Amino acid sequence: MKTLKDLNIENKKVLLRCDFNVPLKDGEITDDTRIVSSLKTIKYIMDKNAKLIIFSHLGRVKEEADLEANNLLPVAKRLEELLGKEVIFSETTRGLEEKIDNMNYGDILLVQNTRYEDLDGKKESGNDPELGAYWASLGDVFVNDAFGTLHRAHASNVGIASHMEGKSCFGFLVEEELTALQVLDNPERPFMVVLGGAKVADKIGLIDNLAKKADKIIIGGGMSYTFLKAMDKNIGKSLLDEESIDFCKEVLSKYNDKIVLPIDAAVTNEYTEDEEYRVKDIDDLTDDEMGLDIGPKTVELFNNTLSEAKTVIWNGPLGVYEFEKYRKGTEEVLLGLVDNNIKTILGGGDVVAAASACNLKDKVYHACTGGGATLEYLEGKVLPGIDCIK
Ligand code: AMP
Repeated sequence: MKTLKDLNIENKKVLLRCDFNVPLKDGEITDDTRIVSSLKTIKYIMDKNAKLIIFSHLGRVKEEADLEANNLLPVAKRLEELLGKEVIFSETTRGLEEKIDNMNYGDILLVQNTRYEDLDGKKESGNDPELGAYWASLGDVFVNDAFGTLHRAHASNVGIASHMEGKSCFGFLVEEELTALQVLDNPERPFMVVLGGAKVADKIGLIDNLAKKADKIIIGGGMSYTFLKAMDKNIGKSLLDEESIDFCKEVLSKYNDKIVLPIDAAVTNEYTEDEEYRVKDIDDLTDDEMGLDIGPKTVELFNNTLSEAKTVIWNGPLGVYEFEKYRKGTEEVLLGLVDNNIKTILGGGDVVAAASACNLKDKVYHACTGGGATLEYLEGKVLPGIDCIK
């Protein structure tokens, strides 16, 4: 992996792709985590006396009306506050040459939302060759620190990098994420996978790729009910992904020895937090009941199994963690991993949110940030944003 420390950026014009896709409400940033987490890379480049030119997307731009709502100016202001230094802002994505010529070394320029280019024939998202070549022509080297877009071939990542052979690298954020994910290429064994969340259909690629590598596959959450249905159990009104039953049957027969499923559940009659729940063995569910969390016997079973693991990848919560009372299963299994000091990677999306809600996110080995990018990496796909820099 080629990282910032492998590239000479001293006194260079550095093009940096960040992920500043922050949530905004009425033009105000409501969560600046993404900007804050980019500071390490930005400060490192600033310290090298470079001219720093930053690109990022923000939201989606499909029509004129989307322009104002997705203007990157608030990000420039916030970045300026965080750095205690002026950030020059370009209202446009073109005509940047003069602005860059006028910069002093050590200055920072933030370019308008790269997706403004999508208004004219999806030039950014479609990786328009002319656009990538134009942006690449503005700098000497390219640093990609936008993990969440590595699975996309856009002009501002793959487009620029394709003109910067030998002059591109990853920033510290991407380096950190990839270093953690690469643990899974050759994991210390026993290697176990924990799967939860809602739909099996969303995770078919992931299951296909990880099941063959794993020593154990622990399945909870909404998705476990489609597996249980595939075993002809009565799952009542629990979440069912009917179209994936055959896939589940296949997985069950292929990996029978590896799979661990819930043996009890917290059940209720309605999908609401207001009703009391009962704990029932998985064979005892009635037609009008639904399982919204794993039960205590399952927690014990999962924790005993996982206590043998050396490496764990976990995707998807084991219950409806948005309701506090159905967060318990996820929390107790997470706690077991943390207490046993097991190298655990939370693979994106909702399990990271669940771990945050339990105040355990910072206690695991790594919590991935990029939803789609992480999922595609775990599916074993080649990510265009990685491939063009490797
Ligand atoms: P995913 O995005 O596939 O990881 O799914 C996350 C969603 O799965 C969350 O919104 C959870 O509420 C949901 N979920 C987890 N367990 C269950 C369950 N037993 N029944 C219904 N939904 C569930």
